[in-house]
Amino acid sequence: MADLDVDLFVIGGGSGGVRAARIAAGYGANVLVAEEYRMGGTCVIRGCVPKKLMVYASHVRHELDDAAGFGWSIPEATFDWSTLIANKDKEIARLEAAYTFNLEKSGARIVKTRAVFEDAHTLRLGTGERVKAKHILIATGGAPNHGEAIPGIEHVISSNEVFHLKTFPKRIVIQGGGYIALEFACIFAGLGADVTVVYRGDNILRGFDEDVRAHVRKEMEKSGIAVLTGCVVNKVDKHEDGFTSHLSNGSSIASDQVMFAIGRHPNVKGLGLENIGVAFNPKNGGIAVNEFSRTSVPHIYAVGDVTHRINLTPVAIREGHAFADTVFGKRPVRVDHNDIPTAVFTQPEVGTVGLNETEARAKFTHVDIYKTDFRSLKSTVSGSESRVMMKLIVDASTDRILGCHIVGPEAGELIQIVGVAVKMKATKADFDGTMAVHPTAAEELVTLRTPSARHVREAAE
Ligand SMILES: Cc1cc2nc3c(=O)[nH]c(=O)nc-3n(C[C@H](O)[C@H](O)[C@H](O)COP(=O)(O)OP(=O)(O)OC[C@H]3O[C@@H](n4cnc5c(N)ncnc54)[C@H](O)[C@@H]3O)c2cc1C
Repeated sequence: MADLDVDLFVIGGGSGGVRAARIAAGYGANVLVAEEYRMGGTCVIRGCVPKKLMVYASHVRHELDDAAGFGWSIPEATFDWSTLIANKDKEIARLEAAYTFNLEKSGARIVKTRAVFEDAHTLRLGTGERVKAKHILIATGGAPNHGEAIPGIEHVISSNEVFHLKTFPKRIVIQGGGYIALEFACIFAGLGADVTVVYRGDNILRGFDEDVRAHVRKEMEKSGIAVLTGCVVNKVDKHEDGFTSHLSNGSSIASDQVMFAIGRHPNVKGLGLENIGVAFNPKNGGIAVNEFSRTSVPHIYAVGDVTHRINLTPVAIREGHAFADTVFGKRPVRVDHNDIPTAVFTQPEVGTVGLNETEARAKFTHVDIYKTDFRSLKSTVSGSESRVMMKLIVDASTDRILGCHIVGPEAGELIQIVGVAVKMKATKADFDGTMAVHPTAAEELVTLRTPSARHVREAAE
């Protein structure tokens, strides 16, 4: 192996790849990272970060709406899309530079080009150069699905383009029922657009707790977003002044933009993986890996969205770090993919950790549900009709909290802390024994005295 150019070649300068490269370089490895687009990857460039900045922008609308009840009279506010986009771009450029600086500071080198496999130890760069590597980490992330090739699909944008629209769409149709579709629906609605969500299933947020799904939908509809379920867009016509989306239910909707956010697929195409024997997970098309993120080829590893395990930034980072510890730190580290707290930045927000009610009832014989649905103190004076929902799912046999689901302001912030308690295997008695913080919405979580439902599953015959 003495003739190899580098100890580690990382394909992809996103969340997982950058963390792995920095930690491996810290252990003294000779590391090269190839990035074909912009350093920082999806999260920094066209995912979590720019999206959250846009969420903040749209929150201002709600604050303005709430102001009158508290005595403020504010002249009609105006919103300028190009200012938001320019300021967002400035911050993203700053972050991209910080990612590059910190990575190079760690000792790793960066090549700004595409890399593909030539053979199991050789990468071919977009420049035509070849690099031999002892270990290779595939951290190429994912990409938006476009769905079926319906007539007019070329007019449809994805989450990649939505961050760069030149003009603000006063009317937008968003197809999809997952978190990305709904977050953008709420962003655009908050900024003043007419928003229609189109989703093929019977309700939005598939996989989330049923009460969360129902509550978020109701709140979105209250805020004026039209949510059409059980149908799809099957044709898009372009006109001089916008687009018409034709739906499978026979109706049609005029808009200034049509966006699809109907899922993402692992970025594996064209990497040359087929020729070197890297196996895929037949269930989801991601790269198949073991608990140490090792692929079927022993010196090749994969982390983050390309493995299609749990597609979240902190998970990709943790997997990248664990890989570097395992391979270069000689300290085998497994990533625990259980009880990962997560947020959906809809308005109101969702925070969730652990099992949903359906999963809990399938796994445990005695499940108690504690649930509350209330108007927050702030809403009583602001006049907002928005309601908060909180739910604890408890294994009645051991008293352990199996899941916590919150829909309401700052739910993402709250669930980070509840996540610690759930990870520590907190019981309902631990929650009850914790003094409330008053007056907050979160105090409800420690004052839920009586189960709203108790489920006992009959033993199987
Ligand atoms: C709109 C949106 C919002 C999101 N919001 C959140 C959120 O709020 N919270 C959260 O936790 N997660 C969120 N995510 C998910 C999160 O962005 C991803 O889980 C995370 O970025 C995955 O990191 P990664 O390292 O696996 O891949 P990425 O960050 O996607 O990095 C992969 C990199 O590899 C590069 N690349 C690909 N192929 C090659 C090649 N052959 N050669 C060189 N370079 C290559 C790509 O250009 C890219 O920069 C969001 C995603 C989207 C799309």
